[in-house]
Parts: sequence; structure tokens; C-alpha cells
Amino acid sequence: MKRLLLLLLSIGFALPLEAQPENRPKNLILMIADGCGPASITMARDYARAVLGRKALALDAIQVGAVRTASASSRVTDSAAGATAYACGIKTYNGALAVDTAGQPVATLLEAAKAQGMAVGLVATSRITHATPAAFAAHVPQRAMESEIALQMLAQGIEVLLGGGWDYFLPPAEGGRRTDGRNLLREAEQQGYHIVRHRAALRQPLRPPVLGLFAQDHLPYEIDRDTTQIPSLAEMTQLAIELLRQHPKGFFLMVEGSRIDHAGHANDAAAHVRDVLAYDEAVAVALDFAQKDGQTLVVSVADHETGGLSLGRNVDGQGIYAWHPEVLARVRASYERLLPALRDAAANQEAVLRELAGIDSLTALERALLDQAAGDPAALQAALTEIIGRRAVVGWTSNGHTAVDVNLYAYGPGATSLVGSFENDELGRRLAALMGFDLQTLTQQLRQKLVGQSH
Ligand SMILES: [Mg+2]
Ligand SMILES: [Zn+2]
Repeated sequence: MKRLLLLLLSIGFALPLEAQPENRPKNLILMIADGCGPASITMARDYARAVLGRKALALDAIQVGAVRTASASSRVTDSAAGATAYACGIKTYNGALAVDTAGQPVATLLEAAKAQGMAVGLVATSRITHATPAAFAAHVPQRAMESEIALQMLAQGIEVLLGGGWDYFLPPAEGGRRTDGRNLLREAEQQGYHIVRHRAALRQPLRPPVLGLFAQDHLPYEIDRDTTQIPSLAEMTQLAIELLRQHPKGFFLMVEGSRIDHAGHANDAAAHVRDVLAYDEAVAVALDFAQKDGQTLVVSVADHETGGLSLGRNVDGQGIYAWHPEVLARVRASYERLLPALRDAAANQEAVLRELAGIDSLTALERALLDQAAGDPAALQAALTEIIGRRAVVGWTSNGHTAVDVNLYAYGPGATSLVGSFENDELGRRLAALMGFDLQTLTQQLRQKLVGQSH
């Protein structure tokens, strides 16, 4: 009996992995919620129920397992090693983008898709040259090499690039940060790209290749976003799918909710929960397409948790059995706007908190926290986190990443072979196997090409 069960299990799990070509997904949409741990998902769901009157997240319907996030160099990964695990199916050191622990380039899912004649796209709310999207399209030993990353990205022939960060595409004289004097937006245009820099330009019909950069740096947090000027992550996802879906050989699309992580680093609960919800709306767009299409595998995962978020915490030495999404719903700005306003307000801090944080009057303890932090930006940020955290009963334990497992979600052909709990690099390898990608052979070719170039 036990043996029969094992046999059935092994058939159930092994068959899709050994990918019969006729069962192979035509399209792969890989969604990455940077810095979104299990508590962030609970936070967004509770908020959606209490504040928005929704029953569940789009993600809730497709949860299949968990992923362990350690990198080759630490139990606590950074986003570069985390994204490389998914892009290349290997663990590498923190800071590395699509290179192994010896610094040698490793082929990515995006490159493998290209090699099979598929169309490819990258969407992010950070600079498009930031670690997560870069791990799919550039091979560099350090994530900070964003000028080089922009060059490599444009050389890949990617059909759709949408996000923030024209910084690394322009020289200083034209509003950017490139040190080589090159204007990569002009070069991309000569390469055939349609360059888009405003949301309004999306109203005209577009054809690939498209390079859409909607801010100099990262796109604003969802809570701060001017919805008339900057597209949402869901809008960018929809556009990317529209641009890629006509391709006869299918497409690979990576979509990142990048700034969930940034709000976690800042311990900014209100910005964090809004960015998780914006990500979930993008997941809903992908799922809607996949349901109608029937040949698309949608996978959602995080690279790691950020902030050590807790729903429920000690307040005045007591563990509180509650948390209050309504407190976060009253906050109308991220720390990027709140903190400068508080710094500049001097005696008028209460007015700023009323206007931007929905806090009508401060307790004596809250007043003391703010007074003690006067003149010290880091202390002011910690004081604000404590004020909002006590009211919402939300806690944070780090301004960095943590080692906890993250949730894994999948829908579509091949989703059953992603059921379970496994390492992050294993997810990359399973995705490659499902798509029929041979990353090892491609890696050998990539290295030979580089050797050829250096002679
Ligand atoms: Mg990222
Ligand atoms: Zn981070």
C-alpha cells in the first residue's frame, strides 16, 4: 500500500518534470514579489478584507508550496543571489548577477527562451537595471554595476522592458548617471525600440520592441503614485502580455513587485501593504490571461523576506492578540514623503501626522518619541515606525532581509510539479525543465562566446 502510494506520488511529480513537449507550457510568466514574506501576504489579505471588502487575494487560489531562500554565501540572501537562483538554477554569492561562485557567467531563463525563438520581457517597479530584473539579462560579478547592466540588457534583444530608472541609460548632461557619455535611449531607438517615458504615451498602439522607463530612479511606491502619470504594475503587466502574446513561439515574462522590499527595509508598513496589493493585482492580470489562454504557466514567488514583519507584537511589555489594518488605511503617504515633511515641520509635526498619517492626536509617549528623535533622521524614522507599529500592533525586527521561507504559487500547465517545499535554485531548474530549456548547454556556449570575444 505504502509502495503504491509512493509510486503514484513519483509518477505524479516526475512526469511533468520530464516534460512531454505536448504538455509543455507555451508561455511562462514568472512573478517575483521582492521582500514579500508570508507575514506580508497575511497583512495584505487582512487589509483587503478589513479595508477593501474583499474576501481573498488573487494569490490565495494558487498557492502550491514554499521556497527556501539561502544563498551560497549566507543563510540570508540578497536580491541578486535570490534572483540568480530563479534565473539560472544555481546558488551564488550575495551581490552576484547570473554568475556562479567562481564569477563565471551562467545562462538564464530569459536567454534560454530567446534561444528557443520565444519573445521575452522584463517588468519591474524599481530601476530596470536593479538586481532582480538584471539577474535575467546581465552577467556581472556585482549588482552595483548598473551602467554595464544597461548595456548588456539592451544587447539581449528583449522585446519588452518596462519599469523605472532612465538614470543608467543617460549621461549626466542629459539627466542620467552614466559615466561613459553614451545615451542608451538614443542607441535603443536606433536599434528599433519604441521609447516610452509617460503613461499617456501608452494610449497609442505600440508594437515590440518597447523600452518604457517612467522615472529617473525607482517608480514611486503605490501609496504615492500619481495614477495619471505613472502606470501601475498591473497596467505594465497587461501591456507586456499584450505586446508578447502574438508571438508564435510563445513568450517568457518576468514581472517584479520591486518596492515591497524597499518598504520592508524602511519598516514602512503602510507603503509595504499597498505595494503587496498592487503586486496581487498584477498577479490577477496574469492569471486572467492564463485562464483564457490555457497554455501559460504563471508562477509567483519571493526572493526572500524583508524586515522581519510581525502581525501582533508586544506593546508596553504585553503580547497583543490583534492587529489593526485600519490604522494603515489612514496613512496616505510613504516614508519617502512623510519623513521629509516631519523633518521640515518643526513645531507642526502633529499637523503633518494628521494630514499624511491619519493620526488625530499624539499620546504623551508618542510626543516624547518624536522629541527624542529631533535632528536625527534615522531616529525619526524609528520613532514613526514605533508610533504606527504600536497603533496597528505591527512589529519589525530588521532593516534588512531575513532567512524565512517564502510562499510559492503556480497556475497552469506544469503547476503540479511545483508542489512542495524546496530550495530556490531547485525552482529555477524545475522551471527550466518544464519549459524544455537546457541551461547547461547554453551556459557552455555563453562561456565559449566570451572566450572567443576576449581573443
Ligand atoms: Mg528586486
Ligand atoms: Zn532588499
